[in-house]
Amino acid sequence: MKTIAQIREDALNELNAAQDSETIRNLSVRYLGRKGVVTQFLRNISALPPEERPQAGKKANELKIELDQAFEAALKKLEDASAADDRIDVSLPGRPAYCGVLHPLTQITRQICDIFARLGFDIAEGPEVESDYYNFEALNTPKDHPARDMQDTFYVSDNIVLRTQTSSMQIRFMENHTPPVRIIAPGKVYRCDSDITHTPMFHQVEGLLVDENISFGDLKGMLTTFVHQIFDDQTSLRFRPSFFPFTEPSAEVDILCVMCRGKGCRVCKQTGWLEVLGSGMVHPAVFENVRYDTDKYTGFAFGMGVERIAMLKYGIDDIRRFFENDFRFLRQF
Ligand SMILES: [Zn+2]
Repeated sequence: MKTIAQIREDALNELNAAQDSETIRNLSVRYLGRKGVVTQFLRNISALPPEERPQAGKKANELKIELDQAFEAALKKLEDASAADDRIDVSLPGRPAYCGVLHPLTQITRQICDIFARLGFDIAEGPEVESDYYNFEALNTPKDHPARDMQDTFYVSDNIVLRTQTSSMQIRFMENHTPPVRIIAPGKVYRCDSDITHTPMFHQVEGLLVDENISFGDLKGMLTTFVHQIFDDQTSLRFRPSFFPFTEPSAEVDILCVMCRGKGCRVCKQTGWLEVLGSGMVHPAVFENVRYDTDKYTGFAFGMGVERIAMLKYGIDDIRRFFENDFRFLRQF
């Protein structure tokens, strides 16, 4: 009797100390296996005095069942604990699923188009691979014209170019429409140039308005309205005399620096002004190329770089960021 009580105590103490399932399985084998302590005890029961055998056999069988259940229970407890570790904690915050956004240049192009749409302009689009005629010659820029040096052109062949300006749409549209004309032409243009303010492909929005009695005052009014809407109505404009082959007179349009409000800063190179647009009254030679009556009609044209507007609006200092496809940059807009 004493031995059975001792075996029970030893087994349960060892089970209490066991930390993992392998130790528990070994214990089970050591006590209940074919050569286990309890099994050996039962086998040797015949060595006991006859009067003690029934009681000892009963106790030993009870111990066998008790230990078997204790080992099983301990194993199950460990399994449950490790299953709990693998379980998903539904109370944790989820990982965000990133939603796509429109590219900042798409957003700015749409804003520009919306403003001019409200001013009565239609949108005209045309080919990016363009003939020399539409890109240059019809815009009063013949092959020997020095103004061609202003643009680093990608030539596909002698008479085919990647358009250097969306101005090519002026001719394409006027050839097929009689005045009044009121269009903007957004799109990609190409020039062989690359640094922190130039990329070989960039975006322009060209504008053209032709009707009777259109004056430079109409041009100033239209562009002032546009600048006030795309930036804000505190943004003053100034018109500087300039030169483009297809407008006369021509003007560069500066806006009051949106960063320093005219005080002078790094972005405006301490001048207080930023160049944002080219513009002018359509040159009569251009109208002659599309057979418009130059005695009856006048008009104005303007063009702007979408990247330039976006850089000023968002305070971006390197144009190449727009095309690097860095999600960390693009997600901010
Ligand atoms: Zn400034």
